[in-house]
Amino acid sequence: MIINYSEVAVKELIDEVLDDYARNNPNTCTCERCKDDIMALALNNLPVKYVSSEQGEIYTKVVYDQIGGKAQVIAAIMSAIQKVQKNPRH
Ligand SMILES: [Zn+2]
Repeated sequence: MIINYSEVAVKELIDEVLDDYARNNPNTCTCERCKDDIMALALNNLPVKYVSSEQGEIYTKVVYDQIGGKAQVIAAIMSAIQKVQKNPRH
């Protein structure tokens, strides 16, 4: 199977980062449509790093190291959340 490390990282962090943001910004929409938009935007701002994996086994630490670190992924998600909340498409 083929996986994109950035996609793995964003899926891993999206709920945590979005919940956190929503706690501080009570009007934040967390519907599936907005969440998909946030993930798409964040992924467009992160490096594409495809690997093939026979087992589908993924080590999170390796994933973050390969795409510039966990902080960069969180920053990309945060900026995507802000853009989507300003202009929601739901
Ligand atoms: Zn929404």
